[in-house]
Amino acid sequence: MEKRLPLDQVPTPAYVIDLPALRRNGERLRDVAERSGAHILLAQKAFSSYSVYPELAKYISGTTASGYFEARLGYEEMGRPFGKETHVYAPAFTTEDMDKLLPICDHIIFNSLAQWKVHRDRAFSYAETNAQAPSFGLRFNPEYSEIETDIYNPCVKGSRLGILREDLDQALALDKSILDGISGLHFHTHCEQGFGPLSRTIKVIEEKFGDLLMQPQIKWLNLGGGHHITKDDYDREGLISEVNRLSEKYNVTVYLEPGEAVAIDAGYLIGSVLDIVENGIKIAILDVSAACHMPDVLEMPYRPPLKDSFEAEEKPYTYRLAGNTCLAGDVIGDYSFEAPLQVGSRLYFTDMAMYTMVKNNTFNGMPLPSIWVLDDDGSCTLFKDFGYEDFKERL
Ligand SMILES: *Cc1c(COP(=O)(O)O)cnc(C)c1O
Repeated sequence: MEKRLPLDQVPTPAYVIDLPALRRNGERLRDVAERSGAHILLAQKAFSSYSVYPELAKYISGTTASGYFEARLGYEEMGRPFGKETHVYAPAFTTEDMDKLLPICDHIIFNSLAQWKVHRDRAFSYAETNAQAPSFGLRFNPEYSEIETDIYNPCVKGSRLGILREDLDQALALDKSILDGISGLHFHTHCEQGFGPLSRTIKVIEEKFGDLLMQPQIKWLNLGGGHHITKDDYDREGLISEVNRLSEKYNVTVYLEPGEAVAIDAGYLIGSVLDIVENGIKIAILDVSAACHMPDVLEMPYRPPLKDSFEAEEKPYTYRLAGNTCLAGDVIGDYSFEAPLQVGSRLYFTDMAMYTMVKNNTFNGMPLPSIWVLDDDGSCTLFKDFGYEDFKERL
């Protein structure tokens, strides 16, 4: 039976996907797509909550994936049967992957020329015998990125992600036909960035790869993800005119594959206070954990926004919020409040739809938060809850 509750009664721990906020993001993306001709895809690595794919399908062209599982999910829930596209890129594919991807993908993007050589015969023979074969592309490393955090920078020295121009030229000198069957170029060099870095990156791409883009066999240009397109202050007009310019100049379809921008500010992680201890500072132990339920807090690292809270010491009651695991560093951050916290107090972490559910884990045997969807009328519908079996089944 469908379970519906008001937001303030959803049992914790819980992720709540904010459907009206997803629609707001969707409308901004659809506007960019309609006025630029770009195809916008959800990068599922950020957000794979397929319960809301039917809603997202109203705004975007489909999904992209980092491998077979995500590609299959995208296909099953928002793929060709729904008139939508499924794209996939991975640093490496096995031949088993390829056999399963060829029938469900519209674009398959290879990370190296060696990978392309391994898979191209299979790809060509699939294309010969099937009317609806994927289009194939290569990921390039333009050796230009403005990302400052190395672990998120695909152009960092020694990066495995993407082909260098000089390596392509060397390969072409040995084998002129190496690009036969390739119809698109892929670049992914952004992370949480505005239009400025994108326009500067496009300049580099045109300088280094303009000759390839000019070739008639190249039908598409995929500019990856990391674009904060749905943020209030993103220069969407700049993006629209740049996409229009690129499409016309090179006669290509432009693809954008944001993850974060689709689901930004579109969900809560709700936790409750289990205990309060003191050791130089008051520490609230919660039923939500940085390590298990919002690992980017430790990886990035960052202090997640929390509803009705303030900076430490700004208000009379300051607490360190921490998880119920044995990891000493499972600390979410220091926050202050107008009123003291108590055992049972509920805390609403915001912007918790992206890079959370896709990354959570049961380290320390922590329960997985249930997943709810918040609708326009303020009611939440339970999509999924988890228990002991979900912990045991993976071990
Ligand atoms: C991570 C990633 C994305 C999505 O990035 P966001 O920062 O979530 O927008 C898109 N494409 C590729 C290839 C990626 O690795």
